[in-house]
Amino acid sequence: MGDFGMDIDRDYRMLIGGELVVGTQSMDVINPALDEVFASCPRATREDMEAAICAAQDAFTTWRKTSVDERRAALRQAAGILAENADSLASLFTKEQGRPTELAKQEILGASYWFASTADLELEVDITEDTDVRRIEVHHAPLGVVCGIVPWNFPVLLASWKIAPALLTGNTLVLKPSPYTPLCALKIGELLSDVFPAGVLNILSGGDELGPWMTAHEGFAKISFTGSTATGKRVMEAASRDLKRITLELGGNDAAIILPDVNVDKVAERIFAGAFSNTAQICVATKRLYVHEDIYDALRDRLHEIAKSSPIGDGSDQGNLYGPVQNKAQYERVLDLLESARRDGLTLLEGASVPEKGYFIPLTIVDNPPEDSRVVVEEAFGPILPMMKFSSLDDVISRANDTVYGLAGAVWSADIEKAKSVASELETGTVWINQNLESTPLTPLAGHKQSGFGAENGIYGLREFTQPKALYIPKSSDSVS
Ligand code: NAD
Repeated sequence: MGDFGMDIDRDYRMLIGGELVVGTQSMDVINPALDEVFASCPRATREDMEAAICAAQDAFTTWRKTSVDERRAALRQAAGILAENADSLASLFTKEQGRPTELAKQEILGASYWFASTADLELEVDITEDTDVRRIEVHHAPLGVVCGIVPWNFPVLLASWKIAPALLTGNTLVLKPSPYTPLCALKIGELLSDVFPAGVLNILSGGDELGPWMTAHEGFAKISFTGSTATGKRVMEAASRDLKRITLELGGNDAAIILPDVNVDKVAERIFAGAFSNTAQICVATKRLYVHEDIYDALRDRLHEIAKSSPIGDGSDQGNLYGPVQNKAQYERVLDLLESARRDGLTLLEGASVPEKGYFIPLTIVDNPPEDSRVVVEEAFGPILPMMKFSSLDDVISRANDTVYGLAGAVWSADIEKAKSVASELETGTVWINQNLESTPLTPLAGHKQSGFGAENGIYGLREFTQPKALYIPKSSDSVS
């Protein structure tokens, strides 16, 4: 029995119009650490989707009129409920996603923090003119029903990035988790079913067919999508048919540039974590590591040592810091990249050994591969890190920018001004100096180039859930009375 008072491997229900719905079809969920089915949950049909969209449309007519303070209160209540249930959700998270439980718990608490912090945001009315004759106010009107689609790598946090801003701004939402990681989202729907009025938040679990059904549906005013660049393009195409608003948070091939003035022993652990946390399945992870030739060998050897001493295995076993690749398709993709690196004669530096069962791949560093090799050019989204030498700053900046992606990047240097100047030349939506993977609810995450469209988080993100609405107000009614 789980702490929810029900079997953890069954009793998953969708949230549709305030009701918890079993549905007529089901699908299996696999534990990636064991390569075994451990649960089954509803597989939404078209009828389930229609019911959710109808409920969200009905709820929109009243939710849009609620005061912002009422919506803030609901988000804060949701934040509290997530925090209270963090332990139960974390153990379920590990089973479906693979990440070690203590780290999984940080994601649940992170989502709780995001709900609470988003509740504090304020979209102020803009005054563009205020004279003796008239005042012009620009309000931020909600759009309608939002379609939220999230991937499997951060299934709870990324869901909170859609739920909290969509609902705060007066929209209603139908959320679709990844088919690989639907369970925490369904449990969260259950936990929050009384927090929001019926139909304001709806959660549908489904197979590969559900995303395209949703993005093609005219009932949605906006799609907020997080996932791969390839899928993002399909979403944009589907949205174009009826000009739905879109926010796309997509893939990346982020470069970290390490200047020769850093202390290798001081930075190695953090650079390693920036690349391999969550078994390297982070959109903004370092995926290309450029190291100045003066410190290349020392840093490579140190990173390899860390890889060899980093325990990797079933996240339910305490002591493992790294879990499996989340699903079989991704596992096979990363194995294929490794195989191509081997075929090309590249030097692979492997980390600690991994269990035979499950989707495990040793944390692997590729030693100075050519810039045009697949491991450098493609987003691996798995534990294989290409590490390359550079000698000139101009050269490394142009190599870092030579990609269709532009999500994030990092510069490491003892000279912060120099790091800032390198950062200013990187074509990405985020650059970290001497740190990695940071994000805050007040700061936009916005992919440059093919890494995205629009922004999430903070005021920038909130605006994307609204329509600017200009109100021209005369100072006197003399002209009509
Ligand atoms: P994916 O694009 O395969 O799937 C993402 C979601 O889209 C899933 O819920 C999936 O079911 C759904 N989907 C699939 N095809 C669809 C379609 N045609 N129409 C509508 N929905 C569809 O991505 P993934 O493999 O789940 O996630 C990994 C990718 O996500 C990586 O590229 C990673 O960089 C990216 N990512 C980006 C961010 C960011 O904020 N920029 C965050 C996390 C992950």
